[in-house]
Amino acid sequence: MTAPDFDLFVIGGGSGGVRAARIAAGYGAKVGLAECDRIGGTCVIRGCVPKKLLVYASRFGDAFEDARGFGWAPVAASFDWARLIAAKDREIDRLEGIYEANLKAKGVRMFKARARLDGPGAVKLADGARITAGTILIATGGRPSRYGDIPGAAHIVTSDEIFALSALPKRIVVCGGGYIAVEFASIFAGLGVETTLIHRRDKVLRGFDEDLRDGLMEAMARRGIRLAMNEAITGVAEDGGGGFHVALRSGGALETDLVLSAIGREPATGGLGLETASVRTGTRGEIIVDSFSGTTAKGVYAVGDVTDRVNLTPVAIREGEAFADTVFGRKPTQVDHSLVATAVFTTPELATVGLGEEAARALGHDVDIYKSRFRSLRDTLSGREERMLMKLVVDRATDRVLGCHVLGADAAEIVQMAAVALQLGARKADFDATVALHPSAAEELVTMREAWVPASA
Ligand SMILES: Cc1cc2nc3c(=O)[nH]c(=O)nc-3n(C[C@H](O)[C@H](O)[C@H](O)COP(=O)(O)OP(=O)(O)OC[C@H]3O[C@@H](n4cnc5c(N)ncnc54)[C@H](O)[C@@H]3O)c2cc1C
Repeated sequence: MTAPDFDLFVIGGGSGGVRAARIAAGYGAKVGLAECDRIGGTCVIRGCVPKKLLVYASRFGDAFEDARGFGWAPVAASFDWARLIAAKDREIDRLEGIYEANLKAKGVRMFKARARLDGPGAVKLADGARITAGTILIATGGRPSRYGDIPGAAHIVTSDEIFALSALPKRIVVCGGGYIAVEFASIFAGLGVETTLIHRRDKVLRGFDEDLRDGLMEAMARRGIRLAMNEAITGVAEDGGGGFHVALRSGGALETDLVLSAIGREPATGGLGLETASVRTGTRGEIIVDSFSGTTAKGVYAVGDVTDRVNLTPVAIREGEAFADTVFGRKPTQVDHSLVATAVFTTPELATVGLGEEAARALGHDVDIYKSRFRSLRDTLSGREERMLMKLVVDRATDRVLGCHVLGADAAEIVQMAAVALQLGARKADFDATVALHPSAAEELVTMREAWVPASA
């Protein structure tokens, strides 16, 4: 029997695939990787990184306004979308270059091509080349779900296209209620765009703590974002003047310059030839894997969004690394998906780790809630009518902190560190024993002494 061309062949050069390829190569494996678009994947090219750059851009307006409360004269600021996008593109090119260089440095052979499985132990590239490998890793990520069934759906853009818009619209309609939808609504509103968020449910951010959901919706409305909940779009038609007429399920209509759909994402498994190697998928098209990311086919593994576990970059990276440790490093490693901190980069932003109040109760925990809503010191002089929210969900029986939730400036930075405490199994008594860092917003997390009592109690 001839030796396979590679020990490992990775399909997809995003967060999970690149990490797995690098770690496996570090263990001495001969690794090939196919990427049909750009190395770096969703996170670097059209996800987390460009989005966060746009988030930064969208917050300067606040800074200019707030500065007046601190003695600065009003700033006559103007904003240039084309300059922002060009700067963002240069940064993404730079990061892509680093990703490629890191793979090359590890000896990973890159194929800039679409790949599919071609029977057990083999992959076929778009140019017809057939490659054999001892192990195959599928790390093809996800893609935006699109409206397929409404008139004018072709006019609707997704997050894949939004980063390359040639001009900033005056008005935008954002559809969806997940983190990508609220983030883009917030970005565009911050850049001065008249923004409407349309969502088919009554609240955004399903699955997050209710206080955070309510607090964010209040803040978005206060910032001028029009929230149309329990609503859906039923059609989009050109208005003849470069804009669009959007028909609503409730019978109303909206005029806008751009419709952005962020109604969800789905695993990118189409055309992957999974059936040729008996790789099974679930109801959403996700590749079914075990706790070591093994698929139903021997020698075929899958990590990241394509498995639809926790669809975040650091999780895809962890899964890629754990796979490589397990298969090539002789260190069987499972990824713990239970305590993953996450942020929503709206303005104000929110971040969370562990269980929300409702989720904790649903799991049978008897909980004490500690929460504080307060005006940050900064906003006393800026005059901004915004309240930070800090909340701890504590298991009454064990005193363990089950969840930590923050809404307000720097929430992501605060919660990342609180996640270390939760990872270590911190109790409320440990938070109490921690001396406050003053003056800071985060000190509130270690100074809340009284459990919250609902008004009706
Ligand atoms: C707008 C947006 C914002 C986001 N913000 C955040 C955030 O703030 N924080 C966070 O943690 N996560 C965020 N995410 C999610 C994050 O980007 C993903 O969880 C992460 O990129 C998943 O990594 P992955 O390796 O599974 O897939 P991806 O990064 O999607 O990589 C998959 C790669 O496979 C390639 N590919 C697909 N099919 C084939 C094929 N047949 N042959 C060859 N190549 C193929 C694709 O081109 C892609 O490059 C965001 C996502 C979006 C869309």
